[in-house]
Amino acid sequence: MVKKHIHIIGGGLAGLSAAVSLSRQADSQVIVYESSPACGGRARSFYDASLDRLIDNGNHLILSGNQAVFEYLRLIDSIDSLTGSGYPLFPFVDLEEKKRWDLLLSMGKFPWWLFFSKHRVPGFRFPELFALWNLLKADASQTVADCLVNGQLARRLLKPFAVSALNTSCEAGSALLLGSVVRQSLMQGGKACIPYFPKEGLSESFVNPALSLITVQGGKVHNKARLSEIHIENGQVDYFVINHEKIEIGPQDRVILALNAHVAEQILLPICPQVKIPNQFESILNLHYAVDPNLRIKGSLEKAKFAGVIGGVSEWIFIKKGVISITVSAANRFMGCNSENLASLIWQEVREVLNPMTEQPLSEEIPVYRLLWEKRASFVATIEQGSRRPSCYTPYHNLFLAGDWVATGLPATIEGAIRSGFSAAKAVTQFK
Ligand SMILES: Cc1cc2nc3c(=O)[nH]c(=O)nc-3n(C[C@H](O)[C@H](O)[C@H](O)COP(=O)(O)OP(=O)(O)OC[C@H]3O[C@@H](n4cnc5c(N)ncnc54)[C@H](O)[C@@H]3O)c2cc1C
Repeated sequence: MVKKHIHIIGGGLAGLSAAVSLSRQADSQVIVYESSPACGGRARSFYDASLDRLIDNGNHLILSGNQAVFEYLRLIDSIDSLTGSGYPLFPFVDLEEKKRWDLLLSMGKFPWWLFFSKHRVPGFRFPELFALWNLLKADASQTVADCLVNGQLARRLLKPFAVSALNTSCEAGSALLLGSVVRQSLMQGGKACIPYFPKEGLSESFVNPALSLITVQGGKVHNKARLSEIHIENGQVDYFVINHEKIEIGPQDRVILALNAHVAEQILLPICPQVKIPNQFESILNLHYAVDPNLRIKGSLEKAKFAGVIGGVSEWIFIKKGVISITVSAANRFMGCNSENLASLIWQEVREVLNPMTEQPLSEEIPVYRLLWEKRASFVATIEQGSRRPSCYTPYHNLFLAGDWVATGLPATIEGAIRSGFSAAKAVTQFK
């Protein structure tokens, strides 16, 4: 049987989830083209020689309620590669107000945790819960800041949660988008909010098992394969150009464009200028410090292996074997800061957070570190940028879109990227 070809351009999680989903079809062959030497895009791990450690480009946290993520991990048989405490447990440290607490949600939908002072946000007042109601009922014109109610629930939980989920400040972030995250996480109860992250690295959990599956099922993956042009003839894609080579498209073949937003915009502009794509971006800063692999952390941090930080530059501290990694979202505000000063300031915060929980205090001297600044980590989740998110369909019946910037109803997250990949795959099979 002559198989039809499904060309997937972009080997990030949107492209890989489309590929994994379509490679099961007996009548099709999936071919992935990725411009980098390795797949994974904005969610990848690599060996860093200066640290002599395997690190992720950025710490990624997923929640048990991320349905598409877990469906993808089931398909590639990789659920066991994740780790976490197994509880909806979030240790926090407030550096400004010198306070530590463990947020521990109750598993069911009814929020019993709000009635136990040792499980909830310290200083929380019940009227602040109106903020959640406001977010769930928000319309397309409201920002997150419009919905928040002043108090410790906002300062110690909702603001950090919003900035991490949207990678955008509360003043600019879309309340509608955050509302959909709240609906799929907090409103489902603690069982949907159990945090997970890779035991080893992002590529080991999300990328390598997918590549193996695609290959076993007869698909192909080409690295260092850069798309430069898509050509249209008679209202459909008739060829595209990879590394100066024309790839002809047969009548049954299909193309899924799973690029990052700014590259997709350049490729699509000449062939479908009417398709709008988000074009403003926010960065995420990650700092990885090489530490003693035998470092022992006590208490809830040992269980959770991460902590949220309030009132500092650091927002999340992840503790992995031999590496302490810090994440700062919506980091455009720190552009122009001296990297050494940032690394030094953040290391002092790490010491303040972790020293009460370690057997040996962390050294005053900054360890070897690697600063990774993902300049276009995500589109800015504003109302205006949200209105630029296209569906997976294009004016051409054989060209489809995937990526965390496609209209998924979610911010730019792994869940959004995988959902967009699955939707594009479904569209390919339905749209004959
Ligand atoms: C530092 C950081 C931290 C994050 N933290 C979290 C988190 O905690 N939780 C969470 O859920 N999400 C998080 N995210 C978001 C998540 O990583 C992204 O939403 C997701 O990886 C996007 O996948 P994608 O496939 O849509 O895009 P990408 O990963 O950008 O994939 C696009 C691919 O296309 C390739 N490409 C580009 N141009 C070409 C070309 N011309 N030809 C061929 N290929 C090309 C790129 O190399 C890339 O591999 C984080 C992102 C970053 C950067």
